[in-house]
Amino acid sequence: MIDRDYYEILGVSRDASEEDIKKAYRRLALKYHPDRNPGDKEAEGKFKEITEAYEVLSDPRKRSQYDRFGRRVFTSGGAAAAAGTAGLGLDLDEALRVFMEAFGGSGSIFDDFFGMGAGTRTRRAPDRGVDLRLDLEVDFEEAALGSEREVSYSVLQECAACGGSGAAPGTRPRVCPNCRGSGVEVRGNGFIHIRQTCSVCGGSGRVVGSPCPRCGGEGRVQARRTIKVQIPPGVETGSRLRVRRAGEGGRHGAPPGDLFVVIHVRPHDLFERHDLHTFCEVPVPFHIAALGGEIRVPTIHGYTRLKIPAGTQSGRMFRLRGMGIHADGRKGDHHVRVQVAVPDRLTSEQQRLLAQFKSSFRESQISRLDETYRKAEAFYQRKKALGR
Ligand SMILES: [Zn+2]
Ligand SMILES: [Zn+2]
Repeated sequence: MIDRDYYEILGVSRDASEEDIKKAYRRLALKYHPDRNPGDKEAEGKFKEITEAYEVLSDPRKRSQYDRFGRRVFTSGGAAAAAGTAGLGLDLDEALRVFMEAFGGSGSIFDDFFGMGAGTRTRRAPDRGVDLRLDLEVDFEEAALGSEREVSYSVLQECAACGGSGAAPGTRPRVCPNCRGSGVEVRGNGFIHIRQTCSVCGGSGRVVGSPCPRCGGEGRVQARRTIKVQIPPGVETGSRLRVRRAGEGGRHGAPPGDLFVVIHVRPHDLFERHDLHTFCEVPVPFHIAALGGEIRVPTIHGYTRLKIPAGTQSGRMFRLRGMGIHADGRKGDHHVRVQVAVPDRLTSEQQRLLAQFKSSFRESQISRLDETYRKAEAFYQRKKALGR
């Protein structure tokens, strides 16, 4: 087996700076990290290989040894030697520890990982922050048309003083000596081995020498947080808006949880809604209902004109297509229920005209009135037949 050159593995020149080496490693590690390639043995092999290259080339002493003697200088027997290969022969846990030491402190590299969305297996998933729920009352207008709201809540979040590491400013957490950074300790003797969470570091793989005075080494502090929440049009009572990473802060560089904003829509005193459809009731002057004409009706988008046919009865529904709520490329309808209304006041001239109208009016001109009397008559006939 031919051992590839460490510089070649990282794709850097032999005179590359420490910065270049770290950059090259970061790029490749993000590509081949096991969290990003679950179950992919080839990627795991690559990850171990580039991590080994980085481990050697990032350490000036090891790098100069490598430059002079090559990879064999690091072979200390064991699996790698038995397999005929030279080098450190890192196993996956060791490789992950190197990776964590290189980038874990900043947490930023993990943002790239954990931002990948649901379904991603994350090695440190138990440390992820808890999801929070926040109930938010919104006005009908905000729910129908969308809005941006500022919300404030109390949350356990990353300590700004130590950047979440828990270590006092100016110091860094050390790799846990008990588990060597794996977060797991193996106990037992002979044939029985029990893997359990490291009792020294609690599974974080790191120990803090001098704890941060602000958070006492916890890495998180309770704080008031204010964020802007985008309320999309069409939300209803019970709608849940997910604000990624706005939940409780994670531990040990793990990502924060999410915030779920649960919407409660205040009712409106003119408009009602169902799904994307809006409804309102509008009075129609009795003469327009009788003669036909046009009325002005409110919609959530503004006033519009509605044609009223002659002989329109109270309670009739009119549908205005596409005038309801617009959301996700869909448009609800606006439904108008008309109520025939009589004027509260009449001038003497109007009274005279109506009196004139009354003299020629016959009850049969209102079909509903006719129908009512017919039903009443039927009732009285039954009444008579019953002798009551
Ligand atoms: Zn702190
Ligand atoms: Zn430990």
